Amino acid sequence: MLTNHHAHTYYSDGVGAPEEYVERALREGFTSYGFSDHAPIPFAGISSMSVTDLSDYIAEIDRLRLRFGDRIKLYKSLEVDYIPEVINVDSTHIRAAGLDYTVGAVHYIDYLPDGMPWSFQRANPVFEEGINTIFGGNPRAMVERYFSLVREMVATHPPSIVAHLDRVKKRNQEGRYWDENEPWYRRAVEETLEAIAGAGCIMEVNTRGIYLDEITDTYPTDWVVRRAHQRGIRLQVNSDAHRSEHIAGAFQEVYEGLRAMDVEIVWTFTGQEFTPLEVADLQPLLEGSPDQIA
Ligand SMILES: [Zn+2]
Ligand SMILES: [Zn+2]
Repeated sequence: MLTNHHAHTYYSDGVGAPEEYVERALREGFTSYGFSDHAPIPFAGISSMSVTDLSDYIAEIDRLRLRFGDRIKLYKSLEVDYIPEVINVDSTHIRAAGLDYTVGAVHYIDYLPDGMPWSFQRANPVFEEGINTIFGGNPRAMVERYFSLVREMVATHPPSIVAHLDRVKKRNQEGRYWDENEPWYRRAVEETLEAIAGAGCIMEVNTRGIYLDEITDTYPTDWVVRRAHQRGIRLQVNSDAHRSEHIAGAFQEVYEGLRAMDVEIVWTFTGQEFTPLEVADLQPLLEGSPDQIA
């Protein structure tokens, strides 16, 4: 019953072939596994998977399905950016890929003066260049724009799963640019949770910040997970691994945390749809897992 719906191989910015991830998943005791490399973005200058590589990626997963199908269920997905007028989960090349489910994310917010989409994940000087040139030096305006784009994504082109909801805080260590306890920040998050609930998307609880020592809890953080749960949003735990050894990174700790928050159910893809799994049934399977590195 163990699985992971969100990870990256060398088809996008991960390390290692898809087959290494399947072998690792088998060693971890997974019964299913979903590939979700970054989808090709039709915008010159963004280094994502090319559209030509997309057909190879799909063919490779089909090959692995034949080879490992009697031992593990393998699913096809992509982490699809939402960039207005450029890409979303309903873009022609995404629909043509015949995915089992989609992971939707906002990584880019508007454009730098040279016309390139700006990613809030970039280190300085690019991070501050975006805040200064696009948002007049006002980080709050950037964060509010980020959450409004997530709301627009789920309202207009809803993915199956919303990725790492508060990833926008990646460069905000120790509240360097804004205070996450401010009412305006909480309001932006709450409005976005309302939109996710309205769209019926699943929200992932992303463990990547923990096993990379970026942050001490998940994307999104505990209070957001709790509020999502109270709003009835379906949750699922994903590692967003970029190396095969991380596919169950910090899972044990995060599943324990969910139970402490009274989250008893997570939703997992089972071939046609997402079905509920008891967290209590998953926990024993994680004990003794080779990847308890967190
Ligand atoms: Zn992402
Ligand atoms: Zn990812």
